[in-house]
Amino acid sequence: AALRELLLSRIADVPDYPKPGVMFKDITPLLADPAAFGALTDALAGLCERHGADKVVGLEARGFILAAPVAVRAGLGFVPVRKAGKLPGTTLGQSYELEYGTAEIEMHADALKPGERVLVIDDVLATGGTADASLQLIRRAGAEVAGVAVLMELGFLAGRQRLEPGLKGAPLEAL
Ligand code: IMP
Repeated sequence: AALRELLLSRIADVPDYPKPGVMFKDITPLLADPAAFGALTDALAGLCERHGADKVVGLEARGFILAAPVAVRAGLGFVPVRKAGKLPGTTLGQSYELEYGTAEIEMHADALKPGERVLVIDDVLATGGTADASLQLIRRAGAEVAGVAVLMELGFLAGRQRLEPGLKGAPLEAL
């Protein structure tokens, strides 16, 4: 509960960003506070251990910022899942539905070993489309989903419901 209060106190609400009617959750105050960022990193590293992760996947772009120090602290490798067209090697791609249109994410095809257990980390779970696509990439690579961990879940967007089939029983942790 103390962690939750600390994290909440370091997240700013920015109205009408990136477009009118949207309340954007801005994590930059949290990143600027080493006590809060450190506590978040420790908590996420603890989830790696609890769920038996062998690797940490971060989702572009804020997921990279959170997942990289977690991977180092947990003693695990970090794997980026990027927007299409950014990775130099051979990739697996997965497209998914947005409110208007589609988006595509990619991962290096050899980034995960078959059977490895992967924890996916991102800052915000909104509609769940991005996280769901990452779970499909992980499974197509032959790896297992240890869980999804996010700083924040926007409950009113029902991302948890969208993600549930893809989790296949793996946990979704929202700090
Ligand atoms: P989803 O695919 O709809 O769940 O959107 C999740 C992605 O959008 C994540 O990678 C987030 O970083 C980003 N996102 C959506 N809403 C917010 C927000 O309010 N603050 C920060 N990132 C957000």
